[in-house]
Amino acid sequence: MCAPVVVVGAADVTVVDPLPLPMLAPLGELLATELCRRHERRGVRFALGRHVTGFAGRDRVTGVRLDDGGTLAADVVVESAGSIANTAWLAGNGLDLTDGVLTDTHLRVGGRPDVVAVGDIARFPGLRYDGVPRRVEHWSILTDTARHAARVLATHLAEAESGARAGSDTGVNTGAGTGPATGVDGDLAPFAPLPTFWSDQHDFRLQSFGAPALGTADARVLYGEPSWDVVVGYHQGGQLVGVVALGGQAAVAAAARHRATLLQQSPTT
Ligand SMILES: Cc1cc2nc3c(=O)[nH]c(=O)nc-3n(C[C@H](O)[C@H](O)[C@H](O)COP(=O)(O)OP(=O)(O)OC[C@H]3O[C@@H](n4cnc5c(N)ncnc54)[C@H](O)[C@@H]3O)c2cc1C
Repeated sequence: MCAPVVVVGAADVTVVDPLPLPMLAPLGELLATELCRRHERRGVRFALGRHVTGFAGRDRVTGVRLDDGGTLAADVVVESAGSIANTAWLAGNGLDLTDGVLTDTHLRVGGRPDVVAVGDIARFPGLRYDGVPRRVEHWSILTDTARHAARVLATHLAEAESGARAGSDTGVNTGAGTGPATGVDGDLAPFAPLPTFWSDQHDFRLQSFGAPALGTADARVLYGEPSWDVVVGYHQGGQLVGVVALGGQAAVAAAARHRATLLQQSPTT
């Protein structure tokens, strides 16, 4: 198992994580260290770099066994092992279901102009960054994908309708109802959302814009200081690819001011 396990006792919480810091991959060392410190100051304990090897207890769990031979007493265990897209029901349709449903740059699936995937099941090319198709597992992605997919389908339907009308006027079958959706490709900008998420923890908020995970090797404090309100900027090839705020409203507002810069990056097509 390579995921955090949260051990919850009567008043104690211990987070067991094989990684050396919580949320290290998406936040990088600077903010992950501060996140860990903030939780510890509020009484949360961490067993970092540790793997869970089993559970103690007969009828109900009483403890969590670790790979260092120790056992943590626990009444409740919350296992956080990530998510797997539920695509089994789509198997056999000839779709690429490697991790979610592979789409093109307009969220269309299987080369069809009239079938789209929305929500965090859609694995679409990350045009704003490296073009690699990925799933984005944030609440904001539902509305982002739904909005774009609705435009794609509406454009396709309008094009099909006008093609059918032109065909009936001239007596020629234009084939617009079944051909590629040239109107969509010609008129609509490809789907290139700015990934956004927030997480309220204790009395502080973690707010992210862009793709900080792509720039953890070059993370710089843009505002404030880590132990208080802070905004960290993540860079790839010198370019800002993500910002994360940790703290209160002032940090969140300071991070939001970088959205325009992140949005100005021309998506690669
Ligand atoms: C524990 C947890 C914490 C999270 N915290 C955050 C957070 O703090 N911030 C953030 O931005 N994001 C967070 N996320 C991610 C976010 O919740 C998801 O990315 C988002 O809910 C995805 O929405 P969705 O509509 O695409 O899918 P879902 O919300 O998963 O909805 C899919 C729906 O489809 C249904 N379904 C599945 N298979 C079928 C089928 N065959 N037929 C019919 N219906 C089906 C499911 O029952 C479900 O109702 C978290 C996720 C988890 C699991």
